[in-house]
Amino acid sequence: MNSTEQGPVDEAMCDVVLIGAGIMSATLGLLLHRLQPDWTIRVYERLPGVAEESSDAWNNAGTGHAALCELNYTSERPDGTIDITKAIAINEQFQVSRQLWSHLVETGILGNPGSFINPVPHMTFVQGTDNVGYLRRRYRALSEHPLFASMQFSDDPDTIRRWAPLLIDSRPSGEAMAATRDVTGTDVDFGSLTRQLFDHLGAAGVHIGLNQEVRGLRQNPDSTWQLRIRNCHNRAETTTRARFVFVGAGGWALKLLHKARIPDARGYALLPISGRFLRCDNPDVTDRHDAKVYGKAPIGAPPMSMPHLDTRVVDGSRSILFGPYAGSSPKFLKNGSVLDLPRSIRAHNVTPLIAMAKDNLALVRLLVTELTASKSKKLKALREFVPTANPQDWSMITAGQRAQIVKKDPDRGGVLQFGTEVVAAQDGTIAAVLGASPGASTAVPIMLELLDRCFPEHRQQWAPALLEMIPTLGVSLSCNPALAERTMMATARTLHLSASTSSDSTP
Ligand SMILES: Cc1cc2nc3c(=O)[nH]c(=O)nc-3n(C[C@H](O)[C@H](O)[C@H](O)COP(=O)(O)OP(=O)(O)OC[C@H]3O[C@@H](n4cnc5c(N)ncnc54)[C@H](O)[C@@H]3O)c2cc1C
Repeated sequence: MNSTEQGPVDEAMCDVVLIGAGIMSATLGLLLHRLQPDWTIRVYERLPGVAEESSDAWNNAGTGHAALCELNYTSERPDGTIDITKAIAINEQFQVSRQLWSHLVETGILGNPGSFINPVPHMTFVQGTDNVGYLRRRYRALSEHPLFASMQFSDDPDTIRRWAPLLIDSRPSGEAMAATRDVTGTDVDFGSLTRQLFDHLGAAGVHIGLNQEVRGLRQNPDSTWQLRIRNCHNRAETTTRARFVFVGAGGWALKLLHKARIPDARGYALLPISGRFLRCDNPDVTDRHDAKVYGKAPIGAPPMSMPHLDTRVVDGSRSILFGPYAGSSPKFLKNGSVLDLPRSIRAHNVTPLIAMAKDNLALVRLLVTELTASKSKKLKALREFVPTANPQDWSMITAGQRAQIVKKDPDRGGVLQFGTEVVAAQDGTIAAVLGASPGASTAVPIMLELLDRCFPEHRQQWAPALLEMIPTLGVSLSCNPALAERTMMATARTLHLSASTSSDSTP
């Protein structure tokens, strides 16, 4: 990267400052640079490299979330039918991300697609008669939809063994089980993607200041922003000014919004959840597994702690992750501070926090129990997925921190929210992303929403360039099956992904 390691430039005004060098800032920086190449953009990152927090490959699970396998996007109605609304929305969002990434591969901004995205079938695996019934109904509801037409279902152990042998080896026979599989699923190395985007921006003249922590920000009378930046090596402080600030600071975004005294951030708090995974690199095991297999979350567990057995492709090597084992930690970033949670409490967010804690006692209990669970308990959970798992093949790794949104609720006082949310000031001069799920997979639609909210005056002017990058922008793929198929085929071709499958087993 050409322009890294430069200190903050000077007091001069720039058009855009991006705080933090994760996937969100990388995506927004790329879009703004394409749409408005004459704007000056500066990036400030407190760590020595880009993508070292949640966006790093080993700090997240790398699932290209398209609702092909995650059960939390398809809830069961009281009459037993399955609500697929959320799944369709998530899938549509992922198709938008795929289109931008395809465009960037075609234009040479991103390199070999295999360096950041790889085909890995997405599976759901359940046991027990009730769960099998639910999965069958879910399959029927989804597979009629054009975006999920490649989904397969089976309750035959031999078929499931063909799809994922590790799930079935040494499992007692006679157990009711079922699985779905979709070969259009993906594994994404968001760290590599982020680094490639910043390499491009750096080479194009965007200033990327590493080891630079934004410590303060306040709005000037002319609506521009004054930022105070500390050099993490020598603690020297400088200032810079910007017309627009994106707070892409991950778990620290809310802290900076509170410092900036944005009224729209009042009432927001965060619940930090740490995550650990078991990782296996033994080729004798990894060669026998090619899938991301999601199961059911334990009762009371947050949706992001659904256990999954994930093929990962990072730097050309295949590994398997199992987890996550969620736990409690007061830090909002992996490299954050134990004071993050206590320091985030304000008069305006204490009520939502208390209300959320009262409503989610089971979750709080689970986080503490998981944190203190012994290695043998963790291995037991793994063996429910992989009965033949050998402890010597698996080591524990610590992933990134999730900072889940807690916000005011008129009825309950406060609610815990598992999604991702853009918070922007009314005048559109500053915005941030809060929350961590579905996260990086939907970075592109999230940043498009941000552009729409913060730069409405440029909407018309930018539309042609955005359509060139994302041809189906503003069109519902669900309502256009032919367009959905064409789009998925086109991006699959460019990104070297699987496009469809022929069903080899139906219920
Ligand atoms: C355990 C886990 C599993 C996940 N699994 C998936 C998955 O399978 N699929 C998926 O799509 N998403 C997943 N996610 C979510 C995804 O990783 C995040 O949504 C995404 O990486 C967030 O990107 P970001 O750019 O907002 O934040 P980050 O990548 O965290 O980047 C924020 C950056 O801001 C910097 N920063 C913070 N404060 C300052 C400051 N004051 N000054 C300068 N720099 C600052 C930080 O150092 C950091 O580099 C997962 C997350 C976790 C934790």
